[in-house]
Amino acid sequence: MAVSIKAIKGTKDTLPSESYKIQYIEQAALDTAKAYGFHEIRTPVFEYTELFDRSVGETTDVVQKEMYTFNDKGDRSITLRPEGTAGAVRAFLEHGLFNEPLPQKVCYLTSCYRYEKPQAGRLREFHQFGIECFGASSALQDAEIIALANSYFNFIGIEKLAVEINSIGCPECRKKYSEALKAYFEESKSQLCETCLSRLDRNPMRILDCKSPVCSEIAAGAPVVLDYICDDCRDHFESLKKYLEALGIDYVVNPQIVRGLDYYTRTVFEFVSQDEKTKGLVLGGGGRYDGLVEELGGAPTPACGFAMGLERLLIAMEESGIPFPEAPKCNLSIVTAGENAVLKALELSAELRAQGYSVNIDTVGRSIKAQMKYANKINSEFTVVIGDNELESNSANLKCMADGTQTEVSLTEFCEGFERAYMNNAVAAFENADFSSLTQIDINNLLK
Ligand code: AMP
Repeated sequence: MAVSIKAIKGTKDTLPSESYKIQYIEQAALDTAKAYGFHEIRTPVFEYTELFDRSVGETTDVVQKEMYTFNDKGDRSITLRPEGTAGAVRAFLEHGLFNEPLPQKVCYLTSCYRYEKPQAGRLREFHQFGIECFGASSALQDAEIIALANSYFNFIGIEKLAVEINSIGCPECRKKYSEALKAYFEESKSQLCETCLSRLDRNPMRILDCKSPVCSEIAAGAPVVLDYICDDCRDHFESLKKYLEALGIDYVVNPQIVRGLDYYTRTVFEFVSQDEKTKGLVLGGGGRYDGLVEELGGAPTPACGFAMGLERLLIAMEESGIPFPEAPKCNLSIVTAGENAVLKALELSAELRAQGYSVNIDTVGRSIKAQMKYANKINSEFTVVIGDNELESNSANLKCMADGTQTEVSLTEFCEGFERAYMNNAVAAFENADFSSLTQIDINNLLK
């Protein structure tokens, strides 16, 4: 017997019974982005490796250990994107978006690939929602990006969430800070892992996000970057705090946040779950990256962004019992007996589907009983049986599956009859609803 092929470790299938959840969080993300003037950009899943080496940074964990890099048949080094910012910046430059009105605001939903040790909330293929803003250097823009992310999490229903902010300064501040870090880590040089040892000269800041327990313990006592930032960077950070306060966003300053990618400057931030069951899980993060556009060959252009993992968000929602909209239902199953009934069902279903209803007809030649059973299993809201008698009398009984009530509907005006019964049912559900205990999602379901 042939060995069955399984999905690759660290990847995940989304089955039809679950996909409406991811569709919901994706649509809500796009809607939130739109409210802030961010519009979707789509970039390829693979890029030249050099793009990520130069943007994410050669000394980062992502570039050193986690990228899916291969040579294509033309012997070019290609990498599956480990994150979304680099591709967005490349497209911004390649298509001259810098000539469009600035700031340019883009958002994306993308798959990302990192060769990490798979565990809960850490996959090798995962999906990000991200936003990037090019051409605004102000702390106000940083605050707006944080506000966008925050309002998204609020909308979705994630309440127990800390907004952690920090400033990692500009390249000038970083120079001084790197020297201080180097001096600090030199003292424990013999205990550092091999990767961190190589970072000591090239980029000691990266030692701060090493995942090895020994390095993390040493890093915990390291100097903090906020003590090394210049006056301009400090003003920027103070302005950010002022705007967040004006927006009513509770934040905490966490001087330990340095972020795992090299391109950040000044503001960095993370959204960290505070729910008991997922405490500490970083749902998303971002910051300012004023040097990256220039680094990739463009004119100096300030920029900032945010990205969050969709799988992690789903985990957080499920663990905290946050409700999702109802799974989509089949509005009507047309149960048929005989070839003439099938022809009628084809006509009626085409008409109803064109109106936006979800309609199921039998395509496997089952008995009426078996068709009813299937209709039940796929959650049909209504059923109608059409056979020779119905065709002869030109009328059929529409059955509401929730309460068993039946309505006689003319086959000539079937669509109108169905629509009336469907609406009456929706109104009855609305009238019987206990609004005092409804969540926003329950209300949205009722309004559908
Ligand atoms: P980063 O690009 O590393 O700042 O990551 C942004 C967000 O993407 C994180 O906060 C996570 O929500 C998500 N993320 C990063 N790496 C993974 C991964 N390996 N698996 C699942 N989600 C991830």
